[in-house]
Amino acid sequence: MRSQFNCCKSYPCHNLGVVESDEYEMESNHLGYPAIHCKACGSYPPLVDDESVAKVIHEKIARHFSRSLTGCPQCQTLYFDHGKGLVKSNRYGHTKAGQQRLKCQQCSQVYTVKAIKHADKLLLLLEHIAKQTPTTQVITALDCAPKIYYQLLTRLSNLLREFSRQKEQAALQRDFLALHTESAVSQYAGNKALWCIATTEAQSGYCLLYSHNLLLQETLAEAYLGGQSSVLPTPKLPSILAALTERYQSTMRRQHFESLHYGQLANIRGAQYIKPSILAYAHFQLLGLMTASSPHFHHYIEHESAIRGAALMACSEEIFAEQAEVYFVYRHFTGGQELPVNGNNIGWWSDRWYGTHYGAYCPITYRNKYKVPFSLFDADGPKSVHQWLQQQQCLNLKSAKPLDPLIEIQRCLYNFCQPQKNQQTPAMRLGLSQQKMSLTDLLTAAIKRLEHTH
Ligand SMILES: [Zn+2]
Ligand SMILES: [Zn+2]
Repeated sequence: MRSQFNCCKSYPCHNLGVVESDEYEMESNHLGYPAIHCKACGSYPPLVDDESVAKVIHEKIARHFSRSLTGCPQCQTLYFDHGKGLVKSNRYGHTKAGQQRLKCQQCSQVYTVKAIKHADKLLLLLEHIAKQTPTTQVITALDCAPKIYYQLLTRLSNLLREFSRQKEQAALQRDFLALHTESAVSQYAGNKALWCIATTEAQSGYCLLYSHNLLLQETLAEAYLGGQSSVLPTPKLPSILAALTERYQSTMRRQHFESLHYGQLANIRGAQYIKPSILAYAHFQLLGLMTASSPHFHHYIEHESAIRGAALMACSEEIFAEQAEVYFVYRHFTGGQELPVNGNNIGWWSDRWYGTHYGAYCPITYRNKYKVPFSLFDADGPKSVHQWLQQQQCLNLKSAKPLDPLIEIQRCLYNFCQPQKNQQTPAMRLGLSQQKMSLTDLLTAAIKRLEHTH
């Protein structure tokens, strides 16, 4: 994973992603914000706080990828590790109760994969989450103390995460992978709001990663404090050219391209807000785990500068090796007929936009050797994830503590249990399941899979 983000972010500059270059003037203030000046291409990428990105990655990687139920309890073991630093365990006899014992190759700890107890309570909890029952009522229904409720919630979330990550890891071993990423603001009562990023596998709409800009364990030197919204508008103009031009103009009005604000915010107990661009850098580094085994991959991203730099930093080497491409996509209700067949330059960086059935796209790594890749099953993929997850959330966000396990459980419900337009679930389209799963199917399959992991 990349740990340094202060470098040129312009394609096709030869300094793209290069951390040290004689052609850089470090800490330039020429445009009124701290930036690097790349003399090779003339760009001024704003300075990024590498330490903050590292802390966000450290917290989020465990939330999204850890083998908390099946891995060695001493060593942090992850899904999508691709053998790099993967900590393996060997079979090491059985316990008296007949459970498989394992010995970690790295630290020699002997451990057992614990059987999942209280499956009935986990199912009851899952049913209440699917029904969006308020937390206090769930605790009453489970007839347990709040502490036990959080333990069950975490266990259910770990169980479903391990189930889905195992399946994803096998399914994403393919020659070509396309990921579609978009952000959205999730509003809660009392002026609380989260900036969230959803990434789907582009053809199936399956949600692979959903991040929010709260940090619970790590502490950043600078929290995001909010500020007047500079989220790019989605103008209802009948001209897609005019709509896109307005978005570029809105970006120009920011202090710098990546200075994205999304409104005034109230504090959330036990958590710190992360700047959107910092979260974006971390989010795309995590996606790098998923693209690492594909010889060729594409990122389709929202037209947003705070996401553009992050996407490029996740694959600059692969871009030079012609293994990765990055495109902006933009939906518009008129489609893209207004744009000429050979494209139309809009904004800066020679951004050239081409029309397509749902709107327009712009190759950020503008090479013409690949056929237009936009046979998207559903251009609304990540948007649908945001909408569904927001509907599932309780409007009162009293504490940040249950947020991560809840979102992970809801991500699995969305993927495995929610049929979409063609009656298929995203998991069916990605080839992870044969049919729509009921809540019982999902939980039973997850427990069964866990028991047969070793
Ligand atoms: Zn450059
Ligand atoms: Zn170990």
